[in-house]
Amino acid sequence: MRILLVEDDALLGDGIRAGLKLADYAVDWVRDGEAARLALLDHAYHACVLDLGLPKRDGLSVLEDLRQRGRNLPVLILTARDSSADKVAGLDAGADDYLTKPFELPELQARLRALIRRSGGAATPTLEHAGVVLDPASKRVTRGGQPVTLSAREYALLHDLLSHRTHIRTRSQLEESLYAWGEETGSNTVEVYVHHLRRKLGADFIRTVRGLGYQLGDAT
Ligand code: CA
Repeated sequence: MRILLVEDDALLGDGIRAGLKLADYAVDWVRDGEAARLALLDHAYHACVLDLGLPKRDGLSVLEDLRQRGRNLPVLILTARDSSADKVAGLDAGADDYLTKPFELPELQARLRALIRRSGGAATPTLEHAGVVLDPASKRVTRGGQPVTLSAREYALLHDLLSHRTHIRTRSQLEESLYAWGEETGSNTVEVYVHHLRRKLGADFIRTVRGLGYQLGDAT
């Protein structure tokens, strides 16, 4: 899961990024509104954590621009602006959630989980396919009721595939989901993690769609 973090406060941004990385998100961090606008144009994110008071372009303007372009990724506003009028303006501009500073990191993480879950169309908090169950809150995975141990990348790949269960995911989409900017990606890393997941979850769990990418296998 890849998150865009928009925060101009260096200390706070560093803390949020570290907290989200601990929760196994790939985090791209930008510090002004214009950089945020460009990042949202160029990359696919699962969610955006957006400060409002930003250099170059206000967060609300970034959000309005995003929604005008018809992009519906979940946006959580994280701001010191705590008046009711500010919250109304933020939500009316297209935010999905609004959290005021100061805040607790576990609450931010839980709200992001809920937003990403809803945007994936899943009504239940766990994701399930062919006897494999992934619980985003506890980050536990079971197969046939038995716990399965996954590395952080394997977990992230599985989470992506389960969140797009009816879609074919291209290798580059999966790479975008697994890695933040500047992280080294080997040429065949997605294949390697797919291989690991098949070993742990069954050879047919992930299907290769030749020339296109990967998809969950038939639930038999
Ligand atoms: Ca700010």
